[in-house]
Amino acid sequence: MHRVCAQTHTARKPLCPTRVYTGDQVTHSDLLPAWGRILRGHRPLLSIEITRECPLRCLGCYAYGADHLDGLVTLRQLQDYRGDDLVNGILALARRYHPIHISIVGGEPLVRWRELDRLLPKLDAMGIEVQLVTSAVRPIPIAWAAIPALHLTVSVDGLPPEHDRRRAPATYARILQNIAGHSLIIHCTVTRQMLARDDYLDEFAAFWSRRSEARKIWFSIYTPQEGEQSAERLTPADRRLLLERLPQVAARFPKVYLPRVVLDGYLRPPQSPAECIFAQSTTCISADLETGITPCQFGGQPVCRECGCIASSGLAAIGRYAIAGLIPVSALFAASRKIGRAWSRGAN
Ligand code: SF4
Ligand code: SF4
Repeated sequence: MHRVCAQTHTARKPLCPTRVYTGDQVTHSDLLPAWGRILRGHRPLLSIEITRECPLRCLGCYAYGADHLDGLVTLRQLQDYRGDDLVNGILALARRYHPIHISIVGGEPLVRWRELDRLLPKLDAMGIEVQLVTSAVRPIPIAWAAIPALHLTVSVDGLPPEHDRRRAPATYARILQNIAGHSLIIHCTVTRQMLARDDYLDEFAAFWSRRSEARKIWFSIYTPQEGEQSAERLTPADRRLLLERLPQVAARFPKVYLPRVVLDGYLRPPQSPAECIFAQSTTCISADLETGITPCQFGGQPVCRECGCIASSGLAAIGRYAIAGLIPVSALFAASRKIGRAWSRGAN
């Protein structure tokens, strides 16, 4: 799962999805580097499935779905890399795309912790913000806590009974052991089952609010694929209920991060990938370091109108802001993308 962005440290950095929903105020000087890249025909954000392997078998995992990639090959069938080939391959992607932010997802990224141990300091030295999303199924090296540009996010899908059923072997007991000494984001993807009980999300927020390792708690919403019928998928009524409940949970538990910008995005998600600033700003690459994932990190045919991606929602709401009260940021973004693509064609 793992397709969210993590909290940043306090240093001022260029705009990236991490910043949009972390509470850091976005300024013109933050926007400029990303905009500069867009105007030069680049997508400023990169998402990499670092490995095809994962010891978990979560229900509702889209990464291993038949349509996640191009429909011809699945993530498990891809040839992935390890050792020097992986480290050098990712550094080559970073040099090629010049991203301001990289999301490292899986499979389970910690399966490649040895390579990450070498790679993360190098990406930090290149000035690239890295979000690493993990199940915490194995210990997170303590040295990583000192990497300034690294933002760790741990996926925890509900309270222990439900989470442990869904995400074994990354059980609560293991997670609590494996995150010791870190300060990270706890990220919960809300599924329909979690709405059955009024106080479920409160209990979740209460548990993680007591844990010193949890710097913040984020809730995203399960994003289905077209035609999907699953126990996880929220109905429109569920979504309305959730968006009434979430601000109350956030009001009771300060670690729950739900800025207005994200709530607005959840209330009015993009209607298609073409409208999604996050999808349009992000290059998503799978474990062979070649195959693209489209239209966004979910792959396949995600239902944008039910999108629960926290990054997409935050950027969608920002896109509705009007500069000088006149031009919506989204219009400026679309124009910039066109200019960038034309510039890029001319330059090649
Ligand atoms: S932990 Fe593994 S199985 Fe679970 S959602 Fe993530 S990639 Fe899929
Ligand atoms: S709005 Fe659509 S394209 Fe954008 S992240 Fe959500 S599902 Fe993907």
